[in-house]
Amino acid sequence: MSLIVQKFGGTSVQNRERLFNVARIVAKTRAQGDDVVVVVSAQGDMTDDLIAKADEITHDASKREMDMLLSSGEQISAALLAMTLQELGCSAISLTGWQAGFHTDRAYTKARIKSIDTERIESELSRNRVVVVAGFQGMNRYDDITTLGRGGSDTSAVAIAAALNADLCQIYTDVDGVYTADPRKVPNARKLACITFDEMLELASLGAQVLNNRSVELAKKYSVNLEVRSSLTDLPGTIVKEVTDVEGMLIKGVAKDDNVAVISVLKVPDEPGVSFKVFSLMAQHKINVGIILQSVGRDKSKDILCTVPLEDAALAERLLRENQSRFGGSEIVVDTDVAKVSIVGAGMQSHSGVASKMFETLYENNINIQMIATSEIKISVIIKKADADRAVTAIHAAFFS
Ligand code: ADP
Ligand code: ASP
Ligand code: MG
Repeated sequence: MSLIVQKFGGTSVQNRERLFNVARIVAKTRAQGDDVVVVVSAQGDMTDDLIAKADEITHDASKREMDMLLSSGEQISAALLAMTLQELGCSAISLTGWQAGFHTDRAYTKARIKSIDTERIESELSRNRVVVVAGFQGMNRYDDITTLGRGGSDTSAVAIAAALNADLCQIYTDVDGVYTADPRKVPNARKLACITFDEMLELASLGAQVLNNRSVELAKKYSVNLEVRSSLTDLPGTIVKEVTDVEGMLIKGVAKDDNVAVISVLKVPDEPGVSFKVFSLMAQHKINVGIILQSVGRDKSKDILCTVPLEDAALAERLLRENQSRFGGSEIVVDTDVAKVSIVGAGMQSHSGVASKMFETLYENNINIQMIATSEIKISVIIKKADADRAVTAIHAAFFS
């Protein structure tokens, strides 16, 4: 007998028919004699709809109240799925994140899981029940509800799998695995049989929303057996693991993230401590900085540029302007009309010419590169938002045709 964690995303639970489909998958696993913990997302676009409802009231809602609001979506799915399972004669109970023992830090709307007290889940499992947990949520030390950031139900699932030492964590979604590019945007994208944690972490962080990046981080840290598969077909999915068989693939995928902004702090003094002052401001406010670029100092000044998530751009700009006297600089410019396009693959570590092939493709398509960042297994470029889809298609064709 194994313990399996199965997570179902929004499309997989969006209506009555889909709930019954999910319940059948869960009941079938249960019938094989395995214990099952299910993690669910809010139905369909409910999280977006709830955000829109808050927006009707204010554009500056308190983050605490946003968490109170958004967590309700997952609670609905969990209760409905437990009812559906019971309807199929499968004993089940739903739990909110906090009932399931998720303790998080205080950071409303982007909380991190600190610990999971698994006592309740284990006691329900020992009563032969399927435990359906509302994903994306936990409780902080003030007994307030927190949420884990968009796509956070993946993280809930992997965290439960790690805490319970589960044999397998299956992420059921609306595509049948991880592809070389978003299969909805690039029709000839290929499904990967397996991918390493490191490659998946880069892809997820660079915009491939099929898995939330923190879930991959956790899966790597706790060696969780992770599989991405479809709730709508029975095809084999993609296995995410530490080492994959050599498939002879130089790169594993192309990703696009248009949820970024570039912040430039121009002509700051060319002296020690300036970058520290700029980026400590961002860190204090939990703004996740992506690419950082600093020009060579010339005529006693230099420029500092960085990317931040689009939703943090206004806050970053305000912080920089309010504190500009601390680090100087002649101008602060925010560009939200950008996207990041990246290629990822462990194979590029041992091959030359990968970057030049990517840049050549962009050149051939007359796409201007504004910033470049590389690591051992990825190359990212910042380009104009309007060029991003064209860039993804061209780069994918260059590497995979
Ligand atoms: P869920 O609601 O199940 O969590 P998401 O919408 O968060 O599903 O993630 C699945 C989506 O991720 C797919 O519908 C697909 O469009 C998108 N996606 C982006 N990049 C990739 C990729 N490389 N492989 C597979 N899917 C991808
Ligand atoms: N419902 C949340 C979201 O849409 C969490 C999730 O689906 O993982 O971001
Ligand atoms: Mg998701």
